[in-house]
Amino acid sequence: MEKKYLTTSPAQTRTLAKKISEYFFKKLSSNQSFVICLKGDLGGGKTTFLQGFAKGLGIKEKITSPTFVIAKRFNIYSLIKNKREFKNFYHFDCYRIGNPKEILNLDYIKIISNPRNIIAIEWPEKIKSMLPKNIVLIKFKFIDKKKREIVIKFKDAR
Ligand code: ADP
Ligand code: MG
Repeated sequence: MEKKYLTTSPAQTRTLAKKISEYFFKKLSSNQSFVICLKGDLGGGKTTFLQGFAKGLGIKEKITSPTFVIAKRFNIYSLIKNKREFKNFYHFDCYRIGNPKEILNLDYIKIISNPRNIIAIEWPEKIKSMLPKNIVLIKFKFIDKKKREIVIKFKDAR
């Protein structure tokens, strides 16, 4: 399934993202991993989207574009679904990754295998061979200075 949105400001992108995170959380089944992948050009709105997404998960800190850090962890407070308590939100920005194997140095496998984690990956194409099967794929397209097209694809959408 695929859904297409058009936003005309960063605030609108954040609001959309907040709704999307709440929606996915509601739909999540008990053992399913929660990995979203964000593709699209620099300045497309991936990080802006994640700011709203994180807000929907109750995260207070602001998500920023990492310059050198590739993975950042955020605390999740009291987000519980079917007795499964989510503890961490991980933001991976793979822009600077050369070889997909580099991601393994960051405890990547352990992180994506932990059912208490929610994971967002910018530039997933840089670690294509390392992506799990069930992901939510979100594509960002720069239309003009303020407009972004955001396409959300559900399930196994590599
Ligand atoms: P990316 O992570 O994809 O490189 P960012 O979210 O870091 O992109 O940057 C997006 C830039 O575009 C920000 O400077 C933001 O203010 C601007 N912008 C303008 N319009 C929008 C919009 N509709 N949605 C998201 N960002 C927008
Ligand atoms: Mg970014």
